[in-house]
Amino acid sequence: MDKRFAAVRGMHDVLPADMPLWHWLEACTRRVMGAYGYAEIRTPIVEKTALFARSIGAVTDIVEKEMYAFEDRSGEHLALRPENTAGCVRAGLQHGLLHNQIQRIWYSGPMFRHEKPQQGRYRQFYQIGAEVFGLDNPGVEAELILLAARLWRELGINHLVSLQLNTLGTLAERQVYRTQLINYLEQHRHALDADSQRRLTRNPLRVLDSKNPNTQQIVAAAPKLIDCLSTASREHFERVQYLLSENQLAFSINDQLVRGLDYYSHTVFEWLTDHLGAQSAVCGGGRYDDLVEQLGGRATPAAGWALGMERLLELLKLGTSTPPAQGIDLYIACLDAEAEAYCSRLAEQLRTAAPACSIVLHQGPGGLKQQLRRADRLGVRWTVIVGESELASQQLVLKPMRAQGEQRTLSALEIGALLSTGLP
Ligand code: AMP
Repeated sequence: MDKRFAAVRGMHDVLPADMPLWHWLEACTRRVMGAYGYAEIRTPIVEKTALFARSIGAVTDIVEKEMYAFEDRSGEHLALRPENTAGCVRAGLQHGLLHNQIQRIWYSGPMFRHEKPQQGRYRQFYQIGAEVFGLDNPGVEAELILLAARLWRELGINHLVSLQLNTLGTLAERQVYRTQLINYLEQHRHALDADSQRRLTRNPLRVLDSKNPNTQQIVAAAPKLIDCLSTASREHFERVQYLLSENQLAFSINDQLVRGLDYYSHTVFEWLTDHLGAQSAVCGGGRYDDLVEQLGGRATPAAGWALGMERLLELLKLGTSTPPAQGIDLYIACLDAEAEAYCSRLAEQLRTAAPACSIVLHQGPGGLKQQLRRADRLGVRWTVIVGESELASQQLVLKPMRAQGEQRTLSALEIGALLSTGLP
């Protein structure tokens, strides 16, 4: 093809062959979300840039360097959403769903970040997310975490991921800690990596999760946020841990886990894997009690998480469950030009009789051998062969392809009945 028209760097096609795995992930998600009483929401991909700057934080990587922000033809400042928590809060506020109410919602869809593309990291990627509004008790974080854990079990990947937890306390507590941390880091400024030096005064908490070994050494001896937390904040975090333990869910505490978005408070968590190379984060989230108010609503406690679908799909390939087989059940081979209209009616009749079956009608020229080869390439389970003699006798040959069983001669009605009860 002409390279000028190739897909945008970091943006990928999901091809038909990949779809069974996507559908399976989507179906499991829908079922598990339903099992916890979460309702789906769909918000626009484009929002006002200010929504993300205000919610994610003006000095986060996402807002500073990664947003697809643009001015539209009427001069509005818009952005492709880099995540969807802000969109959910915006929609909740706009439709009066948050004040004095409890909402459990989920979403899935594409997100956009202008990051450096590499394996497992894209500029357009898909997320599934869950959000709870209106509840401030630690049971909410436990519920959200247990929901995700159930999804891992259903998908057969629970042995491939591990859960880390931390607490960020309240905004006020973080501010006290921030001053202590800046004072400490200033003393070691010269030994920090360039990114961390830049973040030192603007977003010092992000220095904590720097991947630079020298910075990590300095961070190891830094003051701890937990020491600035009130009794209430500690108890909140302990309760989350207690509820997870009561459900036999394993986790570890990582006091350097701060997450890349500014809106979190209290519990934050992340599922990591050792099986995807450098991109180890599969799912992350936490409580964000201040965000609704920051976006102009009345104070509303909230918590949620988001998972990266591409990374999860890579894990599914290593997991213990296999998606239910999809494919074509029946191919109608048409050996005679005279039989074309009959075959077209037959296909419609069989689709009515067996709505759950997938039936492909041969189109275009081709002899028996060629048609069977085409059916075989589609991986069909059965083929019906219609030629001159079948047309005359109205008795059709049903031939097993990938399926078990004998070749049989049957009427259209009989084939319809067989298909509707599920051919082997
Ligand atoms: P975040 O919104 O940054 O907390 O990300 C939540 C999840 O989305 C991560 O754990 C990843 O699985 C996934 N994710 C984030 N950024 C990307 C990206 N650029 N490409 C693919 N997946 C991503």
